[in-house]
Amino acid sequence: MQQSMEHHRDSNVLLHLDAAANNKFETDPNVINISERIASITEKIDRQPQKHPDLVKERASLYADKTKLRKKLLHEFKKDWWETLYDEYTSGNSFSEKDITSLFDIYRKYTPERDRLSRDLFREASIDSETGKQCLTDLITICSSTEYLVYYPGLQPNDGQCPRCRNNKRAHRRVNRNFLEFCYLCAEMVDSEDEWKKHCQVHIENLTPQCGMLRYRNTLISPRFCPFCLSDGTKEYDARFRQWRDKSTLLNHIDEHLGLLKPLALVPCPHPCCENQDYKGAAALQRHFFDAHSLEEPRPNCQARKRRWSVQETETTSFAHKPPKKKKVEVVIAEKVDSV
Ligand SMILES: [Zn+2]
Ligand SMILES: [Zn+2]
Ligand SMILES: [Zn+2]
Ligand SMILES: [Zn+2]
Repeated sequence: MQQSMEHHRDSNVLLHLDAAANNKFETDPNVINISERIASITEKIDRQPQKHPDLVKERASLYADKTKLRKKLLHEFKKDWWETLYDEYTSGNSFSEKDITSLFDIYRKYTPERDRLSRDLFREASIDSETGKQCLTDLITICSSTEYLVYYPGLQPNDGQCPRCRNNKRAHRRVNRNFLEFCYLCAEMVDSEDEWKKHCQVHIENLTPQCGMLRYRNTLISPRFCPFCLSDGTKEYDARFRQWRDKSTLLNHIDEHLGLLKPLALVPCPHPCCENQDYKGAAALQRHFFDAHSLEEPRPNCQARKRRWSVQETETTSFAHKPPKKKKVEVVIAEKVDSV
């Protein structure tokens, strides 16, 4: 029992499919079939879901089928991780790459109960002390909460209206200011250009590997970042710390950086958190972005994405800094997709 609990807390276990397994999923005939049907239905719905309730229902069911297949694959993937990759690790090989950012550090300000519990739960105190009572209250709040929305700290609506805008007809940006930036990571407004540059500098000097977007209860709490721009010392801090909200626009932008690389040359990951890691060519670097920086492709039918990354693992694009790992990921996907 204790051993199995230890295993669940092993921080090396991958919680998501890695780039190679994800690619296998996206190129599975069953999954391609579902994705094509979703794309064709989306075209028929033509942004007017209220006119096509039957099609909307059919599409929801296809999305559910796809999610089911992904969950099944993830289950197999984790099982395989324990059976083969862990043995490899214990025999001296290293684990596959993963994003090691502590997401709780980003989430914690939105969930004060969990924040307090992470600090107080293992403190020695009696149950009727202030700490004990607070822990119990927090546990009950978490268990009984039905909240599905979260507001930025200090920006909770006042009588259903924005707390910042005195004049309800205009957005923040237009109220007596010509500069306003919002830092999603800090949930903070900065209204002077100099302050904003200083703010960005602090972030640049304290980066985490995470470059993908995070939402918590429908609220954007971490935007996306470009690993190349983050490390570009020729740019101003605010340009380096550019917050990208749209996935396809950022990936199209990263493709421009990747296009400048020589094919199959050894390239280091540009992200400031990655040191001494060389990758062979753009495809290997894309795979690393997916695995270690949480940069994912948008959904397959995204119109704005120019050319999708192919993260297929091949001989010519293996990691240059490590001996090739014997990585056997057996992917099992349902033979037949449940009929809709
Ligand atoms: Zn406002
Ligand atoms: Zn900030
Ligand atoms: Zn960039
Ligand atoms: Zn990196």
